[in-house]
Amino acid sequence: MKFNIPVEVLTIIQQLQKNNFEAYLVGGCVRDLLLKKEPKDWDIATQAKPEEIQRIFPESIYENAFGTVGIKTSSEQENLKIIETTTFRKEGKYTDKRHPDYVVFAETIEEDLSRRDFTINALALKIDFQENLKNRFQIIDPFNGQKDLRDKIIRTVGNPEERFQEDALRLMRAIRLAVELNFKIEEKTFSAIQKMASLLQQIAPERIRDEFVKIILTPLAAEGILLLHEANLLKQFLPELEEGVGVGQNKHHVYSVFEHLWRSLDYAARNNYSLEVRLAALFHDLGKPRTKEGEGPNSTFYNHEMESTKMVYNLMTRLRFDKKTIKKVIKLVRYHGFVYDPEITTDSSIRRLILKVGKENIFELAKLREADRIGSGCPKAKPFRLRHFLFRVEKILKEMAGEQPSLKMLKINGNEIMKITNLQPGPKVGAILNILLEEILDDPLKNEKKYLEKRAKELSQLSDKELEEKQKMAKETYLDLLKEEEEQLKKKHQVV
Ligand code: ATP
Ligand code: MG
Repeated sequence: MKFNIPVEVLTIIQQLQKNNFEAYLVGGCVRDLLLKKEPKDWDIATQAKPEEIQRIFPESIYENAFGTVGIKTSSEQENLKIIETTTFRKEGKYTDKRHPDYVVFAETIEEDLSRRDFTINALALKIDFQENLKNRFQIIDPFNGQKDLRDKIIRTVGNPEERFQEDALRLMRAIRLAVELNFKIEEKTFSAIQKMASLLQQIAPERIRDEFVKIILTPLAAEGILLLHEANLLKQFLPELEEGVGVGQNKHHVYSVFEHLWRSLDYAARNNYSLEVRLAALFHDLGKPRTKEGEGPNSTFYNHEMESTKMVYNLMTRLRFDKKTIKKVIKLVRYHGFVYDPEITTDSSIRRLILKVGKENIFELAKLREADRIGSGCPKAKPFRLRHFLFRVEKILKEMAGEQPSLKMLKINGNEIMKITNLQPGPKVGAILNILLEEILDDPLKNEKKYLEKRAKELSQLSDKELEEKQKMAKETYLDLLKEEEEQLKKKHQVV
């Protein structure tokens, strides 16, 4: 056997051995080496206690309460900068289904392997260093992980129900590994997942999200969603998606809302589109079940884009996605229904769409449209219309170089408005500016002093309420509404 192991990792193992401690490569990296895949990270298990590891490697940090020491290397490569080295451990008692209550160090590598989640992850690699550099390798495999690797099977080490009860994140890890590796989950393991699914409620949302994102980023993401559904896990952390199961659409669609969504994701994932496009593909019609009116071929989903946007904002916030990712996904979802007709759509409405969805997102909006079409059962992803749209977008983007929707674009400012309308500084002036901005985005020819002055005067005649309404309509991107809501909430809390 020959394995390609980075010298930084070999050096650490050799050093530990020279100090008379057993040390092995363990877990996912051994699995990946056997599968001839590049490991994502390298983990070492050793007999040495954390203090002993630190004594041998002064350049190290005791990372957590579970016996893991991060050893710093001089590598420039991200996943080699710190190598996690963990003292042999056995399973402590879990009361929170997350972290063992206390760590019990183990004496042997076999004991350490028995606390690991799945047989294919309960593997260790022993290295005997030889003078002639022809190192000898031996796989330690007490739970027949190599056989399961060959048979492409995910199976827990020991009794599946007990193992999921100890740590419910394993429920998600099973599905994630199955789609990442394209393996099947063994029957007893799968039944246990279905039975224990509700334990997932005890897991921190960001840990669930990490596994979910890994599933979404595989080419088999859609199969992952179906598997999560079948495993009863989807309703634990994404009940919104379950709402679309069996919800029929109208005469324009052959699939139910749920099927349409996973099929859209399937297209996005197989084409290696970004995480945001994949999420938007999976979520874009979430609001349909809640907005459905009527049944059968003539049912409608009025305003479902807005409902979907709200739901996506809520669920991504709940799963602790970062702000940047949330913003991008909700913009895509908000505008996924844009209408384009080569004969009718004007340049200014394309400009407006570009400014609302963002220059940096407009091509991804087109990718979402492809996914939406294929997910509806249309045979062609890029029909003439969409290609035509992209052609015009490119042309308009060139004309718009450097432009961002900002009040600075207006050929009039707040002071000038106050002068001609006799208004005092305040929200009314702001509202007028916002409305004017929206108008010139629609029609750049209106960005001319005379017109803006006349329009500002007209607007200043409106009542506060009318102005506010108009401004809301003009800014009716869900993002702005959210910002307002957030600020109102903040104010409320300050008062209390
Ligand atoms: P990846 O390829 O994403 O790194 P991995 O299987 O290596 O997948 P890690 O999170 O790197 O996952 O964990 C390394 C090893 O630690 C696993 O292979 C497994 O042996 C063990 N492990 C990780 N999480 C758990 C868990 N929740 N319960 C039991 N063992 C675990
Ligand atoms: Mg790993």
